[in-house]
Amino acid sequence: MNALVRPSELKKQHLIDPEICIRCGTCEATCPVGAVSHDDVNYVVDADKCEYCMDCIAPCPTGSIDNWRIVKVAYSLADQLGWAELPRQEDFGEAAAAAVEAIEGEVGALLERAHSGTGGKPVAPVTASKPTVNIFTRTRPATATVQGNYRITAQNGSSDVRHIVLSFGETLFPVLEGQSIGIVPPGMRADGRPHDVRLYSVASARDGEKRNANNLSLTVKRSEGGVASNYICDLKIGEKVQVTGPFGATFLMPNDPSTNIIMICTGTGSAPFRAFTERRRRAAPGAPGKMIMFFGARAPEELPYFGPLQKVPESLLEKHLVYSRLPGRPKEYVQDRIRSRAGRLADLLGSEQTHIFICGLKGMEAGVDEALADVCRGYSLDWSRLKPQMRATGRYHVETY
Ligand SMILES: Cc1cc2nc3c(=O)[nH]c(=O)nc-3n(C[C@H](O)[C@H](O)[C@H](O)COP(=O)(O)OP(=O)(O)OC[C@H]3O[C@@H](n4cnc5c(N)ncnc54)[C@H](O)[C@@H]3O)c2cc1C
Repeated sequence: MNALVRPSELKKQHLIDPEICIRCGTCEATCPVGAVSHDDVNYVVDADKCEYCMDCIAPCPTGSIDNWRIVKVAYSLADQLGWAELPRQEDFGEAAAAAVEAIEGEVGALLERAHSGTGGKPVAPVTASKPTVNIFTRTRPATATVQGNYRITAQNGSSDVRHIVLSFGETLFPVLEGQSIGIVPPGMRADGRPHDVRLYSVASARDGEKRNANNLSLTVKRSEGGVASNYICDLKIGEKVQVTGPFGATFLMPNDPSTNIIMICTGTGSAPFRAFTERRRRAAPGAPGKMIMFFGARAPEELPYFGPLQKVPESLLEKHLVYSRLPGRPKEYVQDRIRSRAGRLADLLGSEQTHIFICGLKGMEAGVDEALADVCRGYSLDWSRLKPQMRATGRYHVETY
């Protein structure tokens, strides 16, 4: 570990993986600033010229272009031309993490806040696919076309949540289940600056809302007075939307079909879990791992996807739909149901194959945490030890906003 390095001394260097590259030359042809060149052996990126515009990332057929190292001294062209494989990432410890966050800027800060409930640095599941991030930026966004906008809470209720389908046409916009995208609301703030990008979780599987249709879906709640949510909830079919991302490298679905996935959510926090469920249904039907969902709302009318969820078989997804405002019934929150299913959960928590994902409003974290501690207490497990273990091995994930 290089303990004396400060984040300000580090930079993120764009590199091409010589082991995967098929030398098709697409990156060199796409780069607008002439940063990519080649000899008879390798394609290489000039660190002095690369402006991180990401234009070269999407057209690359292999993904070899999407490689990055945090460096103190950039690798020269001569270094890169001599490589048969990429060098390992040098260990700069916390300084490297701080440098990456600074590079990821506005969105990095939003994600850091959303994942702060993990109680430490979030870690991706060991068997998650490698995510692609930051291909499209505010200055170079992707343009998507609205293919659908359906209300998924009752028409007469007070909660207006929409299922939005966005098509990327010819543009490659790769996402994994658990990632988010940024939506750039049109127009300006009162101070004359452009609106901030807002993040929305992808609600569809990696191969699209409709398989291989190069589209994705979102679950968006209209917030009173909110800039982006009202813009999105009012979108009409055929309208164009500016999109950034994809974002998020840790809140990702494990690929291993034997993993048990406990999903705890409220409201639009269900979006990534819709993606997880659809992924498992498509990629690993009959998987040995269990998927179990605790989903809280005030009433069925306010629970996004209430109707479609009834049709998901219990063999694929064990559902606990929990309501806090049913007339004549005691209030029940997700943490209450977690406690009343303690035996079932303790069985799963005892397994190293089990992952916990929590997503939704910030306020839900504390109650869920206490309920999981109670479950453990009743079954000779110690949550204060288990949680950090799960977090460190990429099995405990929080995304709240
Ligand atoms: C990682 C991540 C994933 C997310 N995923 C989702 C998702 O899947 N679905 C989803 O719906 N959201 C999601 N969000 C939240 C989303 O990014 C936005 O924060 C949310 O939609 C509100 O944005 P907005 O522009 O509508 O509200 P803003 O304009 O940012 O306003 C924020 C809040 O202030 C209040 N407000 C502002 N102006 C007024 C006014 N004039 N009168 C009254 N109240 C006012 C509103 O209550 C509003 O909700 C996610 C956030 C993160 C960080």
